[in-house]
Amino acid sequence: MTDRALLMIPGPVEFSPAVLRALAAPSPSHVAPEFIEVFSRALGRLREVCLTKDAFPFVVAGSGTLAMEMAVANLVEEGDAALVVNTGYFSDRMSKLLERHGARVTQVKAPVGSAPSVEEVKAAFSKGAFKVMTVTHVDTSTGVRADASGLLAVANAHGALSIVDGVCATAGEEFRQDAWGADVYLTASQKAVGVPPGLALLTVSPRALEAWRKRKTPVRSVYLDFAEWLPIHEAYLAKKPSYFATPPVNLIAALDVSLGQLLAEGMEARFTRHRTLAEAFRAAWRALGLTLVPKTEALAANTLSALYLPDGVDGSLVGKVAAEGVILAGGLHPEIKARSFRVGHMNAVNPSDVLATVGAVERALAKCGHAVELGAGLAAAQGVLQG
Ligand code: PMP
Repeated sequence: MTDRALLMIPGPVEFSPAVLRALAAPSPSHVAPEFIEVFSRALGRLREVCLTKDAFPFVVAGSGTLAMEMAVANLVEEGDAALVVNTGYFSDRMSKLLERHGARVTQVKAPVGSAPSVEEVKAAFSKGAFKVMTVTHVDTSTGVRADASGLLAVANAHGALSIVDGVCATAGEEFRQDAWGADVYLTASQKAVGVPPGLALLTVSPRALEAWRKRKTPVRSVYLDFAEWLPIHEAYLAKKPSYFATPPVNLIAALDVSLGQLLAEGMEARFTRHRTLAEAFRAAWRALGLTLVPKTEALAANTLSALYLPDGVDGSLVGKVAAEGVILAGGLHPEIKARSFRVGHMNAVNPSDVLATVGAVERALAKCGHAVELGAGLAAAQGVLQG
């Protein structure tokens, strides 16, 4: 059975059979009543997953980067001041997008493996006014989770709009859009949301839509402009046919199935499951003497583990783990790319996946000639999984 492998990268992830069946079904017309029903339900479910009643949901063909650019293109005008809370590679990408759209960008940047503190961000706000603050909830290059609720409280206290990149967090890490007051919460389909790549998802607060309506200049991209998408999504929510650009009907049908599954599990149960399984992984890594990239456990994401390669072991470890039947990801952050590897643990991940992955890492470390006690990581993980 050489074609069976467990995909444990930080997206795309393993998808449920029902989600994959929705993709394989004959494509409906995008204005068929049955599809309108599906799209309308998916939009409502997206709100529920983001724990928002107030924010407006957008589902657009594109990847997470498109969701990031859509947020930026609509909220930022030439010369606007933006504050980037930078925790790694994807915060750098956010800065690049902001600059390209004309923002004056200030960064509060932490060393690799760390996150700017709420105090540092407060200090930045005390030195200057910002129209928008951006936060990468989980930076996939470092496995660092930012203190989203604390940072959003600071932005709100200063009347700044907020953009939270939830691509590697949504539906895995606790996030409460209304309670925490996030203006744009954006994500993509291929991680904890549980749908193959191809959908950019955003939920946008009334305050952010108001700021967009008050723009002095038009959005410089037709495809990204809320003006094109708002009427379409309003129509689908009201169960009426509409068209701007052909929606990816099968992906949207798959999204509806996946969001239905997520909500059946329940968001609180989902957050807890991701936390418990991440703790099992971290216990295993500790027992194997592996070091997390995040400098403290409190900074470590529950959706992936970013780890340093142990001394004497190079990036070929990932290939050796693959030969054991588990697909992991190499390093991504330029400063630690050659010295790190990453294990995704999102969506349908379960205790058996934890054990299969830890077991494969143990065997691969041994094959690299690393001194490892086979079973030490497994025993530590079992200790957490047993509860
Ligand atoms: N933000 C974060 C935190 C991500 O992890 C990713 C993708 N790994 C992106 C943005 C970009 O998403 P995409 O690759 O789907 O464009």
